[in-house]
Amino acid sequence: THFGFKDVPEDEKEELVRDVFSSVAKSYDVMNDVMSFGIHRLWKDHFVAKLDPGRRPGGEPLSILDVAGGTGDIAFRMLDWATEIHNDHQSSVLVVDINDDMLKEGHKRSLATRYADGSRIEFKVQNAEVLDAVPDNSQDLYTVAFGIRNFTNIPAALRAAHRVLKPGGVFACLEFSKVNVGIMDMIYQQYSFNVIPLMGQLVAADRDSYQYLVESIARFPSQKEFARMIQDAGFEVSGDGYEDLTFGVAAIHTGVKV
Ligand code: SAM
Repeated sequence: THFGFKDVPEDEKEELVRDVFSSVAKSYDVMNDVMSFGIHRLWKDHFVAKLDPGRRPGGEPLSILDVAGGTGDIAFRMLDWATEIHNDHQSSVLVVDINDDMLKEGHKRSLATRYADGSRIEFKVQNAEVLDAVPDNSQDLYTVAFGIRNFTNIPAALRAAHRVLKPGGVFACLEFSKVNVGIMDMIYQQYSFNVIPLMGQLVAADRDSYQYLVESIARFPSQKEFARMIQDAGFEVSGDGYEDLTFGVAAIHTGVKV
């Protein structure tokens, strides 16, 4: 069965994406582990270490916005990093996502952490392309991990990111990308188009959602094209503007609002 997500009109894409993540909200960790052999955990750890979030001596606590934050994977890591590495007990994260089911799961998870009182983490339904509850020039750091390829209008989301960041604020994106070694790419294409949907069926009884995920990765722009889009939204990027992880299976892009 082929779901044919490629052919859906833009206005229906948003709803489809919502349905995909509603159906995977509960089995979300399983899905990530299936898709990446568990490597997504290492990528996320590396992403947070690279950003090194936390209050600096003499500085203010940080306001961090984690967009498409889903079940809080990145948010909890950033708060742990700030707390443990910078002894920062004040910086906070606003987790936004278009899907309330994902946020509910994240909120539930937060109750089992040291952030259970909610003073350092908040969950809110927001479309990344709009962010109407987030004031201009209000955030020190904007993160989006494995979210942006699902957005209907990526340039609009990048403009919204630019709007909400303070001058000097950092935009950081972790996303599946293009494999940069020929033979690895052949293996990867075989794996993703043939194995992942099958595994989705076997592990989560949900072939269509996994099929969608594979297609959304294939459609997402290359590292260089995406770095260009970040620049077009007004960000300054240093060097190439990205770092490849695992031969480019994933990549981290960063930009600074000047
Ligand atoms: N950041 C989390 C992580 O790394 O585990 C979750 C990533 S999950 C693969 C993608 C998320 O993007 C989903 O929770 C989905 O609801 C969200 N999403 C898709 N389109 C969105 C949009 N336009 N605005 C905000 N969130 C969106």
